[in-house]
Amino acid sequence: MQFIDLAIQQKHLGSRLQARLAHVLETNQYILGPEVAELEAKLAAFAGARHCLSCASGSVALDLALMAWNIGPGDAVFTTPMTFISTGESIARTGATPVFIDIRLNDFNLDTTHLETALEAVRTKDNRIHPLPLPARQSSLTPKLVLPVDLFGHPANYDVILRFAHTHGLKVLGDAAQGFGATYKSKHIGGCGCDATATSFFPAKPLGCYGDGGAVFTDDDDMADLLDSLRYHGRADHHDKYNNVRLGLNGRLDTMQAAVLLAKFDLFPNEIILRNIVAKRYNQLLGSVYGVLPPSFPMSDYGQSVWAQYTILLPPGVNREKVRQFMLDRGVPTAVYYPRGLFLQGAFAYLGYRSGDFPITEEATARVLSLPMHPYLEVQEQTRVIQTLADALHSL
Ligand SMILES: *Cc1c(COP(=O)(O)O)cnc(C)c1O
Repeated sequence: MQFIDLAIQQKHLGSRLQARLAHVLETNQYILGPEVAELEAKLAAFAGARHCLSCASGSVALDLALMAWNIGPGDAVFTTPMTFISTGESIARTGATPVFIDIRLNDFNLDTTHLETALEAVRTKDNRIHPLPLPARQSSLTPKLVLPVDLFGHPANYDVILRFAHTHGLKVLGDAAQGFGATYKSKHIGGCGCDATATSFFPAKPLGCYGDGGAVFTDDDDMADLLDSLRYHGRADHHDKYNNVRLGLNGRLDTMQAAVLLAKFDLFPNEIILRNIVAKRYNQLLGSVYGVLPPSFPMSDYGQSVWAQYTILLPPGVNREKVRQFMLDRGVPTAVYYPRGLFLQGAFAYLGYRSGDFPITEEATARVLSLPMHPYLEVQEQTRVIQTLADALHSL
């Protein structure tokens, strides 16, 4: 059993993948060939955004959006510590300071009830009302941005976040690296009101290519022009690439990856449905496993997850590594996303956070376990996963 089975998906892709790749090899336009524009138009229409700008990775998508808004030293960016390193890394590399906000245990996403206090804490440099990073305790930072994450494919609570941000003159950048394909209150992620949304096409994401790739969605025409320039070394426009009017980077999606994504995008809407069926079956099967919490998502009127991962909470105090080894010995691979909150990562030691600052994140990182998840997982396999999990918990 595979944790994510890309080989089965490749069978379902059939000849459409070969045809797409062959076309690139015939036309020899490897950088910004016609497939890139075709993909961007399709993804923008799907998301319900005016613009989709593809780029080299999900991390670069975050970088480009932050560059377009001139986020940098002296700025504060509110985000979640329960995420992949990129989210915090992109903020910190601009020179801005990540200000972490704890999560909710039910969907692992940023707990919006802390937003007002976190903002107040930054404005007053008052560490007692919300745990602040060192730079925010020592000097007055300017709150600029909220950067929520759709962890495991579950949409963040965008209405609340957008209302908060726009009341206080902040922008919202959604990190939908795991959330593309999810729906928030009947709108697709990428089209639900964020100033920009970044996603990733890393092979393991819900819509993945065969290498690195990413995209930024926005309704803002000026920002789209800026992103188009920034991903191509700050060129003036399409016709004048050796006229560089700003500092950018090499951040383009290559044509081969766009071709792979076009082939996969044909299957994507159905794969979203299949992922939801698989998740629902897991929920039902887990009903019989004592003490394990299935993810409590979706909440009917809230939206639909794209189930990038199916992540459960083990009972408190269970030795997770022993459970994983037991399952692996019986051919069931699992993963831990993530073993440590960003605020406790060595790379962020300079922020001066301490264990205890974000207790829900610490509890989640201690108890999470992600089970095999992909659209083509079969009932028998799922039954085996859950039976093996139950056996592990019994025997330990
Ligand atoms: C995967 C991921 C990224 C980074 O995407 P890459 O394409 O690997 O650079 C950023 N944020 C989150 C939440 C992710 O899961």
